Order: sequence, then structure tokens, then C-alpha cells
Amino acid sequence: MGDTTFASGALKKAEKYSEYAGERIDKAVGDDAIPAEAAIETINKLLNQAGQLHIPVDLFCVAQKLGIDVKYELMEHGQDGRLQKPEGGRFEAVLNIAQHPHRQRFTLAHELGHYVHQHQDTMMKEAVGGDNRDEISSLGVKPDEIWANRYASALLMPGAAVKSYWKNGMSRSDMAQIFNVSQQAMDLRIASLGLVDLPQQR
Ligand SMILES: [Zn+2]
Repeated sequence: MGDTTFASGALKKAEKYSEYAGERIDKAVGDDAIPAEAAIETINKLLNQAGQLHIPVDLFCVAQKLGIDVKYELMEHGQDGRLQKPEGGRFEAVLNIAQHPHRQRFTLAHELGHYVHQHQDTMMKEAVGGDNRDEISSLGVKPDEIWANRYASALLMPGAAVKSYWKNGMSRSDMAQIFNVSQQAMDLRIASLGLVDLPQQR
């Protein structure tokens, strides 16, 4: 009898959660999931009826579609943000209000990456401990952190758009402005896409 009670309780909980649950990113499931593919699937959810993507990418729209709330708080120096799930509530991406807007933006994309890769299928679990993004995670030494960073980079700076602007001769600084990212993030993305011809002239 105990089992029955537990099962029905769990079912109720699942039904309750489905009210909150957002859209899934299927490409992010599995250990061998490629972050860039998951980011493209995410971006596809943002296209308008004409199949066009608005740039800079609206991360708040992504968060809303995934069913994640975005919050701000003052954190200790060196802290960027975290992903958390209060018991019975929705996932929350919490950002350090003291950080530069570009860093907040990358952190939000990074936390969304953790969610699609590690947490979108664990809604039945109790509150997750959460990711604490800080200077160590931004160095990207752990596989999960590397995954989240690559997803963030591909989400903020979609490969097709970067390549198109680059081909048309746009400067690196103009590109950073258009994508609303730091120059460092933009330069890393340009390099990771293999677009390295004469960068010093741009
Ligand atoms: Zn992280």
C-alpha cells in the first residue's frame, strides 16, 4: 500500500510539474551530445514565421521557452551565477548583478546550457544543488563546464550568422557589438569557427 501511495503522489507531482515544464532540446540528451547542435536546436525555437533569427539572440526568450526563470542577486566577488531549482518550483538561473552585462549574458547562456544538457530530464528530482559559475568554471576545465561554455558560445553567436558577417568583411568589434558579447568571446568564437584570415586587419 505504501508503494501505491508513493506512486500516486509522484504522479500528482509530475502533473504539477508539467505545468511549469518548458520545451525540450532533444539534441542535448546523452553524453555524446554536441553542444553546437543543441544550440542550433535552441535557436530554431526563436525563428520568426519567415525563418529569420533576431540578433542579438534574446536569451530571456530562450529561458522562457525552456521554462526557466531569470533572477539577479548581489554575489561575492568572482561569482558569476548559478542554476538552481527550489523544491516544487521552476528552475532559476541566478546572475550576479554586479557583473558586466556581457558577462551576465554569457553566464545566462552557460546556465541554460547546463539545464538542457543535465537537468531538463530530471524534473522529478528534488531541488538540484546547482551550478556555481565562477572564474574556475569559466576556464572550462570540467567536461560539463566545457559543454556549457560551448553551448553558450554557439547560442550567443550562431555559426551561420558569424560566418555570414565575416564573409561580408565586418570588423571584429562591430561583430561583438551586433551579437552583444565581449570582444574576447567574439574573438574566441571567430577562431573556433576557423575564420582566422587576417584578423589583425579587422
Ligand atoms: Zn557551469
